[in-house]
Amino acid sequence: MNFKLTIGWLYPDLMSTYGDRGNIICLEKRCNWRSIETKILPIEFATSTKELENCDIILGGGAQDRQQELAIKDLRENKGDTLKKMFQRGVPGLFVCGSPQLLGHYYMTGDGKKLEGLGIFDYVTKHAGLDKPRCIGNTVGVVTGINSLTEKPKNHLGGGRMDSPEVKESRRTIVGFENHGGRTYLGKDAKPFAKVLKGYGNNGEDGSEGSIYKNVIACYYHGPFLPKNPHIADWLLARALEIKYQKDIQLEPLDDTLEWQAHEFILRKLKI
Ligand code: GLN
Repeated sequence: MNFKLTIGWLYPDLMSTYGDRGNIICLEKRCNWRSIETKILPIEFATSTKELENCDIILGGGAQDRQQELAIKDLRENKGDTLKKMFQRGVPGLFVCGSPQLLGHYYMTGDGKKLEGLGIFDYVTKHAGLDKPRCIGNTVGVVTGINSLTEKPKNHLGGGRMDSPEVKESRRTIVGFENHGGRTYLGKDAKPFAKVLKGYGNNGEDGSEGSIYKNVIACYYHGPFLPKNPHIADWLLARALEIKYQKDIQLEPLDDTLEWQAHEFILRKLKI
């Protein structure tokens, strides 16, 4: 069977800071290596709901407060209901920093403007204030919101180090880079995506990182995130194929030696 995925990229001109575009390139490459056809659809103001509905996976990056204001206006007026329905039926997504702030109940910007969000996630985000320190730095977490990541991969092609103890242990860790003024506070219905091992996470106080709703990940991990976290990239791709083709998917394994080396380098650097 020839698989094909359409990857929707939310407002590439407004929302793609700190290398978030790398997440798109990573998914595209991992599909190409497996002969899965891909189409990248930039989701702009002019994108119709019909086009949006055709996406099999949605990615969103970070942004400054001003760009977030422009994006949320279009999301609330034109695209919010469609996105909600897609996520409810299991379409996966990855939203980094500024974009997930728009998927909660609201985001209070640095200059005190309240941007009403889409309410898909049960959380709120408040900027600490423009005169307050931002949450900046390399960050590491352990994924608590996805059980299947703990499974040992069935087999691997090449990459002799894939079965090394470090790799097995690191299959639930995530590494990235954060830079945000906003602090996110989860409500009782929000499931955390991960637990913070190094860095600030959602708010620098409660040790939670991001949130997960069905197959949608909200997180503060720039980096870009997916190239250094191939387990998350493949989790997203497998969910996208399962929802689209309505059957169990076992992705063909790739040689991720370099990817895991990059991942482990950060773990070592931060003394995890
Ligand atoms: N403007 C938001 C904040 O400062 C998001 C920043 C980002 O996406 N890196 O929290």
